[in-house]
Amino acid sequence: MALLSTTDFPLIIEKRDGFSHGRIDLHSHTHCSDGSLSPQTLLDRAVNYQIDVLAITDHDTVAGLDIAQRYINDQNVPIKLISGIEISTAWQGFEIHIVGLNFDKNNATLLKLITNQQQAREQRAVTIGEKLAKCGFPDAYHDAKKLAGEGSITRAHFAKVLLQQGHVSTMQKAFDQYLGKKGRNTQKAYVKPTWCSIEQAVEAIHAAGGTAVMAHPIRYDLSAKWLRRLIVHFKESAGDGLEIVLPQMNPQQRKTMLNYCLEYDLHASTGSDFHHPNKWSDLGRNLILPDGAKPIWALWQ
Ligand code: AMP
Ligand code: MN
Ligand code: MN
Ligand code: MN
Repeated sequence: MALLSTTDFPLIIEKRDGFSHGRIDLHSHTHCSDGSLSPQTLLDRAVNYQIDVLAITDHDTVAGLDIAQRYINDQNVPIKLISGIEISTAWQGFEIHIVGLNFDKNNATLLKLITNQQQAREQRAVTIGEKLAKCGFPDAYHDAKKLAGEGSITRAHFAKVLLQQGHVSTMQKAFDQYLGKKGRNTQKAYVKPTWCSIEQAVEAIHAAGGTAVMAHPIRYDLSAKWLRRLIVHFKESAGDGLEIVLPQMNPQQRKTMLNYCLEYDLHASTGSDFHHPNKWSDLGRNLILPDGAKPIWALWQ
């Protein structure tokens, strides 16, 4: 993997529209999974938001990366694209997302893992469809599949179908009433996934020469004790960093996450987890790493 010079990662921070904007965003989605924009439109948006370095991290797929890189080359888009993926893993009954960054997207080990994850997604989607049919929505699988097109099929597609057809009033309600899991409580159309393990995800990312980051540790709804266990397990699995800065974190959460990085000698990553334009978050917004954090991109220089 080519080394990246420090000039690829300017740390200029600007205040625009009342928000701090970092110039690096290492977590974003396109319509190759559950994002709503094409890779090209996402890149145009990133240029508008003055992002210099963007990772596209679709769920269990690298399909958007070639499309994005081609667009950058053809149109001279002033963005450094980092190859990315967000891998769903199973750990102790929880679904933990591992972001892979800056890897060789043609690596055979990684591609094999992606094939397995795609099969797990497809099988789970069929079973979710059967459960939703029993709830009175016989076309849910067909409609979700159509919405996903050739991309990774996710629960977000099912949620969107339920929303568009007026069965729920928000995406959140689709998860709360049908698709989600809260603690030990599973909803009517929840299906236990057969994702790979954290170790397997980290191993495949490393095999491809990449860097493994635990996505959004604050979002797993874990007690402090369980979150620490998860971080210890991730570190023992050779994980490289934690995504400690995402939009909408309070100062206490930022401090706690930085302390985990320092305590377990992990690097720090930052990303918006952008899926579609909305008023609460956007590419690059409020993504400044705190002083004292070792940036994940230091591993690439
Ligand atoms: P999956 O990876 O198929 O389980 O789908 C999970 C995706 O659904 C996540 O990446 C989110 O984008 C989306 N999602 C999960 N929970 C919610 C929620 N409560 N409301 C809206 N979207 C959600
Ligand atoms: Mn998603
Ligand atoms: Mn995620
Ligand atoms: Mn994500």
